[in-house]
Amino acid sequence: MKHTFDQLRLASVSRSFANAEGAHISALNGLDLEIERGEFIALLGPSGCGKSTALNCIAGLQPLTGGEIWLDDVRIDVLAPEKRGFGMVFQNYALFPHMTVLENVGFGLKMRGVAKAEAEKRARAALQLVQLVGHEGKLPGQLSGGQQQRVAIARAIVIEPPVVLMDEPLSNLDTKLRIEMRAEIRRIHGQLERATIYVTHDQDEALSMADRIVVMKEGVVQQVAAPKEVYCRPKNLHVARFMGYRNVLACTLDGTAGNGVEVTASGVRFVATAMEAFEAKAVLLAIRPDDLVRAQPGTPNAFEVEVDVVEYGGRDSLLFVRAPFGKLWARVEGEFAQGERVTLSVAPERALVYNEEKAS
Ligand code: ATP
Repeated sequence: MKHTFDQLRLASVSRSFANAEGAHISALNGLDLEIERGEFIALLGPSGCGKSTALNCIAGLQPLTGGEIWLDDVRIDVLAPEKRGFGMVFQNYALFPHMTVLENVGFGLKMRGVAKAEAEKRARAALQLVQLVGHEGKLPGQLSGGQQQRVAIARAIVIEPPVVLMDEPLSNLDTKLRIEMRAEIRRIHGQLERATIYVTHDQDEALSMADRIVVMKEGVVQQVAAPKEVYCRPKNLHVARFMGYRNVLACTLDGTAGNGVEVTASGVRFVATAMEAFEAKAVLLAIRPDDLVRAQPGTPNAFEVEVDVVEYGGRDSLLFVRAPFGKLWARVEGEFAQGERVTLSVAPERALVYNEEKAS
């Protein structure tokens, strides 16, 4: 398989299983995706949404039950995994414990029949890229978790794959190291000029690393967009909830107001942003706790609340408050006391209106 390419294309890729009772489980349902060389794509969603299944289908570790995968003009879903030649990095590193770091990294080249001297040279270059020079002779057990994951990355990239596939590679690391490794993986990706497809259930990881995020739910793609778009303009309420729009209020749609819409919740009027074409007057208003701010009474989109619970957070406080239209979460700068009355407001572009959810 060639090392470079322009586009990886998934067309209606599906994968289903029969469960123990013989019922049909659709783990991946009609995934369409075009990935360009150089792109960093995150597959994001809660546990069980089909992210790993998608990655395994691309790698060739699982057969498709429908659809096709193309690397430029070559159909690859019919090829064995080793013929596709994609690099894979797993959550548990999957290193050979009895082999040294250098042997682990060179293993794939040895299997491909690359001459020993050449394999060693390339393995050393890969270790340099992941900044592990000096650790070549160690066994994986003598390295920290973060270093082991770097070895796994070096092993994946040493074969010069067109696409590197990563399945929750940072999940086993502590928070500080995870944040350092995000930048490290982005740096390595930038130097390789290939494509990276990165599976994660962590919104922050996807937002900070990806060029585009594919948000999935129950095997179906919900939104494919740049991080800012997914964060600020979630396409539906499922994506909004997943991206932290924790307050979802039942409202009545009153009409349009300039570029926005007017909605009312228990007599409180909001100018907000319509995210869908509406099917009924009963709608839902989604607001992120961080988007609520202190305001003067009587200003647009302002309402008074009583503080019920305070979680001190240093710079800001996470509040659980009672508003006229129900309870909500607010993350607001400053310190607060239980029982305090506060006026909050939300900017119209941060108040997103969706149709009521249909039972699925
Ligand atoms: P996680 O982060 O927990 O791994 P995921 O988003 O990667 O979740 P998948 O592992 O792709 O999800 O699983 C998607 C769905 O397919 C789940 O409902 C899962 O139970 C089901 N599934 C996955 N593999 C199999 C299998 N071998 N047999 C039966 N069902 C499976």
